[in-house]
Amino acid sequence: MSARQLAVVTVVACLPMPVAIHADMVPPGSQLAVASFELPAVPSKWEPGANTASIFSAAAIPGTPGGATWSIMGAGFSDASGADMTHGANTTVVITSLGFSLSTIQGMIDAALNVWAAASGFTNLGQVTDGGVNAGASEAGGGQLGDIRITAWAFDSLLDQLFTLAHAATPGTEATDGAGGTLGGDLHLNPDQLWVDDPTDVGFDPFFDTDVDLPTVLLHELGHSLGLDHSPVAGSVMEASYMGARRTLHADDIAGIQAIYGASQAVPEPPALLLLGFALLVMALVRVARRRPAVSHSVWAAALTDGNRIA
Ligand SMILES: [Zn+2]
Repeated sequence: MSARQLAVVTVVACLPMPVAIHADMVPPGSQLAVASFELPAVPSKWEPGANTASIFSAAAIPGTPGGATWSIMGAGFSDASGADMTHGANTTVVITSLGFSLSTIQGMIDAALNVWAAASGFTNLGQVTDGGVNAGASEAGGGQLGDIRITAWAFDSLLDQLFTLAHAATPGTEATDGAGGTLGGDLHLNPDQLWVDDPTDVGFDPFFDTDVDLPTVLLHELGHSLGLDHSPVAGSVMEASYMGARRTLHADDIAGIQAIYGASQAVPEPPALLLLGFALLVMALVRVARRRPAVSHSVWAAALTDGNRIA
């Protein structure tokens, strides 16, 4: 797979990944680098429908709406993508290995995606049944269900087991990346970490503070799944290192996600506002008109009594 990007969040500096699947820096002078956020060397995004990821081009303009589904992979799956994802011979494990119930984790994933959706033209299309196939399996074999597949999957090296929290791939399908491209958007969480649900978690220290806020890491990794790379801005969600709980977006994160999916669709566009105003005016006129017949009727009746019918 040629254009696949696999990004990682670590508790130390971002660990280098094999060149074929990892690229953190956007080329200098890129027109997409309008703020401090960074996009992968081959920027990609999810289109409005399921399984329709595309790279930025004339046909897939940045700043246009998009949407993606997500699913949770089961246990026992391996890598069919051809990429070195540093899992070695390990296979996926049940996501409850992270220490939370399935419903709790589902809620965390949904909430994190909704944070990105609320700030941009991205739509969280919700959870779907997983294809039940290996990571990067063909679309015909179910590899596209959902667009973003999430699982717990142990790393093979002790270094990664200790210091890499998770990694995620940027958007893609077989149409954009060829065989193995369905790995696009997928997110793998390290089951060897101590995951917590703590909005006040202050950071990580290998000896004194080894727990990590799962909602924070989900928000960061799903930023990769939606097409963002790391940001050099301190305090941003997309900062490469885990610096403690960070569950709301920094202005730099918002600039980044809006560069890919446009501004939030929740705010009515000007034409919609005009239509709304017109509808309110019509409703007001109808209410006035409804009142008038009562008045007119009495006048008309009086006129009849007087023998002066008025039309
Ligand atoms: Zn990252």
